[in-house]
Amino acid sequence: MPGDCVFCKIADGEVSAEIVYEDDDILAFKDISPVAPVHLLIIPRKHIPTLLDLNESDAELVGRLHLVAADLARAFNIDHSGFRVVFNCGPDAGQEVYHLHLHLLGGKPMTALIAEES
Ligand code: AMP
Ligand code: ZN
Repeated sequence: MPGDCVFCKIADGEVSAEIVYEDDDILAFKDISPVAPVHLLIIPRKHIPTLLDLNESDAELVGRLHLVAADLARAFNIDHSGFRVVFNCGPDAGQEVYHLHLHLLGGKPMTALIAEES
């Protein structure tokens, strides 16, 4: 893993985060700059830079990221009100951290295509 990857450091416990779920392959924590009342990031422990770097052997892992998102939506009581899950990929999507992460956003109506403001 790249030594400067902040999400690898969170996965290794070198950088602290408010962790809300973890297992052998997946970690979820609160976004440090939330743009919605519930804003969680769900990541693989394995360093994968973007969606474009996934291969066939990652299919189950990517599926499981979504199952964790659904479980967390229930745990954070946004399952009935609704929520959004987003992978940003590359510059025009505003990807800042090049370690694959699924945003889970909810707790307020989101009328725009993307949640830009709190
Ligand atoms: P993206 O623009 O999709 O790359 O999103 C990266 C997200 O990571 C942003 O929403 C940041 O607020 C969040 N983030 C960056 N550093 C940390 C950190 N140390 N702990 C929690 N969230 C972070
Ligand atoms: Zn990483």
